[in-house]
Amino acid sequence: MTYDANNIFAKILRGEIPSHKLYEDEYTLAFMDVMPQVDGHCLVIPKVGSRNLLDAELSTLTPLMATVQKVARAAKAAFKADGVQVRQYNELAAGQTVFHLHFHILPLNEGQTLRPHSGKMADHGVLASHAEKIKKAL
Ligand code: 5GP
Repeated sequence: MTYDANNIFAKILRGEIPSHKLYEDEYTLAFMDVMPQVDGHCLVIPKVGSRNLLDAELSTLTPLMATVQKVARAAKAAFKADGVQVRQYNELAAGQTVFHLHFHILPLNEGQTLRPHSGKMADHGVLASHAEKIKKAL
């Protein structure tokens, strides 16, 4: 399986489609998921193109995990959550729908259940206000 640079996250990285950005450095980008499974659901991606975890270079994973930790802490604080799930899918059979490596960050409270994966598009005003909350906590 090869990396296809026409995927939606590569387009976000190139600025071809908009996103609610949270954090960016030389190696990584974090932004809101448009179909959030919980309030504050966001994604962290490397700037280098790899399909998923299976073909990623170690040099890609090191800065990526640093950003995953940073954004997970901020999302938990911003939403006053009891915990945070970090999810990551590899290939269609495992639930992957966008083929550019990404980690899902899901702030969760005790007993809270997730909305469906790739479910309903959120209102952009709501996503913008959730992004502001997370950015303030970063
Ligand atoms: P996967 O199944 O590949 O792990 O998850 C892809 C995620 O990307 C899903 O949670 C989905 O809601 C999200 N997503 C799909 N298209 C877009 C988009 O255009 N913009 C953003 N910000 N998220 C997207």
